[in-house]
Amino acid sequence: MMHIGLSACFFHRDPKRNLFKDKTLLYLEESLAHWLMEEEILTVLIPTPGKRKAHLKKIVADLDGLVLQGGADVSPETYGEKPLKPEWSGDRIRDEYEIALVKEFRRQKKPILGICRGAQLLNVAFGGTLYQDINTQLPEALVHRNWEIYDKNFHHVAFEPASWLSKVFPKQKKVRVNSIHHQGVKDLGKGLSIEARCTEDGMVEAIRAKKGPFLFAFQWHPEFHDPKDRNLLDCRPILKSFIKAAERQ
Ligand code: MN
Repeated sequence: MMHIGLSACFFHRDPKRNLFKDKTLLYLEESLAHWLMEEEILTVLIPTPGKRKAHLKKIVADLDGLVLQGGADVSPETYGEKPLKPEWSGDRIRDEYEIALVKEFRRQKKPILGICRGAQLLNVAFGGTLYQDINTQLPEALVHRNWEIYDKNFHHVAFEPASWLSKVFPKQKKVRVNSIHHQGVKDLGKGLSIEARCTEDGMVEAIRAKKGPFLFAFQWHPEFHDPKDRNLLDCRPILKSFIKAAERQ
């Protein structure tokens, strides 16, 4: 079975937590694992290296690809900015852990798929910057995250002309996806191309590495899409392309 590495989400040490008091927890979100497991793959949560940083090469060598899952904000400090508000400080520890993973998977020429925060992290890993909060920095922009309706917040995205996505979905120019992010790509990272934008405000919604092994990322969450809702983009062809790239190793 194919082994796909998953970057962990973090619950940092918290003395008030009534479980694993003051311990760091690494976790994955269940629907993402289930979405990936619809293919013949085993998802493997990659722990932080701890004292064994040198093991990362071997860990990556044993995996066929990397999926960067959603979660906490990317820290503005990771792209050389100060947080505009304390609540937008993000998770610098997770940023560093994931950037190390991205570098090693790229070095070993293995495919990477980024989801939501994963797209933002990849943009930053390639030298790009983010909006720390879309609606503060771009007041005219659409609301890309509504906490009350959460994964029921939707908008349309259009594929860029001549993009990879436009070839994957040749009959669909404008599609509907969910939107649960308040950060977004500001300056695009080096070597990346824009694959899709929000039709309402032009926000970057998908990016891809122009060269090298498969690296693709989008802002929406396919794992939360209701497969019965025909009005939402079926993202399985993207996952299948990622798997195909992972098989080539
Ligand atoms: Mn969006």
